[in-house]
Amino acid sequence: MNKMILIVEDNRLNYKLLADFLTVHGYTTKNLHRGLNVVSCVHEWRPFLILLDIQLPDISGFDVMELLKQDPFSATIPVIAVTACVHAEEQHLAQSKGFHGYMTKPVDMNAMLSIVNSFAGEDIFNHHGIKP
Ligand code: MN
Repeated sequence: MNKMILIVEDNRLNYKLLADFLTVHGYTTKNLHRGLNVVSCVHEWRPFLILLDIQLPDISGFDVMELLKQDPFSATIPVIAVTACVHAEEQHLAQSKGFHGYMTKPVDMNAMLSIVNSFAGEDIFNHHGIKP
């Protein structure tokens, strides 16, 4: 089973908090600090899920999402937005851009784990044809 989660997050402490928590719960993680190389890294690492910070130093998470959707392989991977912005407009924009979920910082770790687990279950379903 694929346990790899890509966390696109420029803040090292935020990444470490997410990565340590997910590792304790059986997942493996990779980290990118910027958005521009996401598609090529997705091809290399093949994550089943992407946690995508919206506020990145080079391009916005929404622009990263555009890049992911333009590529046939990366377009199939669910993406959860992680953002410091709590405005409803941004959440609606994320929905319209094809994000599969939306989490505000500080991240509620148990809620995040529930979301991740639900997508990990889908991964099993997609690859073996049976639900866990
Ligand atoms: Mn950021």
